[in-house]
Amino acid sequence: MSKILMIVIDGVGDRGVRTPLSTAKKPNLDELAKRGINGIMDTIKPGIRPGSDTAHLALLGYDPLKCYTGRGPIEASGVGIELKEGDVAFRVNFGTVEGEGSVFDKIVVDRRAGRISETDELVKAVNEEVDLSQFGVEFTFKRGSGHRGAVVFRGDLSDKVSDVDPKKIGEKVKRCVPLVDDEKARFTAEVVNYFVERSHEVLENHPLNIERAKRGLPKANVLLLRGAGKAPHLPKFEERFGMKLACVSGTALIKGVVRIVGGDVLEVEGVTGGKDTNLNAKVENAIKALERYDFVLLHIKATDEYGHDGDFEGKRKFIEKIDRALEPILSLDFSEVCLVVTADHSTPVKVKDHTADPVPVTVVYDDVRVDDVEEFSELEAYKGGLHRITGNDLFNILLDLTNRAKKFGA
Ligand code: ZN
Ligand code: ZN
Repeated sequence: MSKILMIVIDGVGDRGVRTPLSTAKKPNLDELAKRGINGIMDTIKPGIRPGSDTAHLALLGYDPLKCYTGRGPIEASGVGIELKEGDVAFRVNFGTVEGEGSVFDKIVVDRRAGRISETDELVKAVNEEVDLSQFGVEFTFKRGSGHRGAVVFRGDLSDKVSDVDPKKIGEKVKRCVPLVDDEKARFTAEVVNYFVERSHEVLENHPLNIERAKRGLPKANVLLLRGAGKAPHLPKFEERFGMKLACVSGTALIKGVVRIVGGDVLEVEGVTGGKDTNLNAKVENAIKALERYDFVLLHIKATDEYGHDGDFEGKRKFIEKIDRALEPILSLDFSEVCLVVTADHSTPVKVKDHTADPVPVTVVYDDVRVDDVEEFSELEAYKGGLHRITGNDLFNILLDLTNRAKKFGA
């Protein structure tokens, strides 16, 4: 049976008529649009602004409106924490607090601790020195890239608790409070507050932070937890669709989505999930992965970052860089590989955040009804034969094209 290669250019869509995508020189993407069938896609539903996590769930055939339980568990899974059903996970930022007394009396002066990059020692100290056994709770804390990380609590816990992260500098660290009136949520908030207080004590006096202070750098002395969620129980991708799934991505959140549905994350040298990522290595490894896997997701992040930065030129130039890196894709055998090029959502440079503006999608495969679209762009895609579809529709169409769809009825 044919393999499926899905290339997701994160946030590549934009708003308006003159966009980074429509003005970029992208002969390879345009060639693929020419050879394929095109359309416009609302990853979740028209008007729903997708997160990258919910959008990717939809692109992988899951209904995020039914199965999404928050960013915490996906981030935790992305940094490599093995989740059990019922675990409560949070995203974590290393931040900087100043002031006297309890951590909850102190002021957050930096939410990213000066964008600290080396946190291994700090993570180790928290895991070793903070003890939640008096609550009958275990925890695992792991670092992500830069100042990011994730923590998972295991015990009789609730995810209906608030964030510790005030999300603004100049404000006090927020005390975690129950969001519902029940004992479990109250208990969970108590555990979280104890964890934040104790980890602050450990971090405040850690040699690495003493050293940072001496060099005039902000101490990474607080863990700002947010996005509590329970580990969802999702049917595994391979069991559901009979396909082995792998992804090439440098982004913890996307790796998390793939791991949570039971897929493999392929580690590729030089892949950072940032603007400096090795695109050629990504493309090469994704193509190679088609030998061992049935469905390969190739995720490219930096277009979204340029969108968040409001950088039109940066976004356009990075699209051109992607286009050059995609050259080898043109020589795939499209009788054996069904190729999709699309985005998870738009990240317009004017909005600097995700919007629900639908994104272009191109499917290249033998026997698709090739349409007249000659350009991979937001506006041209409207003229394509796929018309306007959702992310779940796209997934179903791929199953059908590759003869994997189950018949509905007799
Ligand atoms: Zn995204
Ligand atoms: Zn984004």
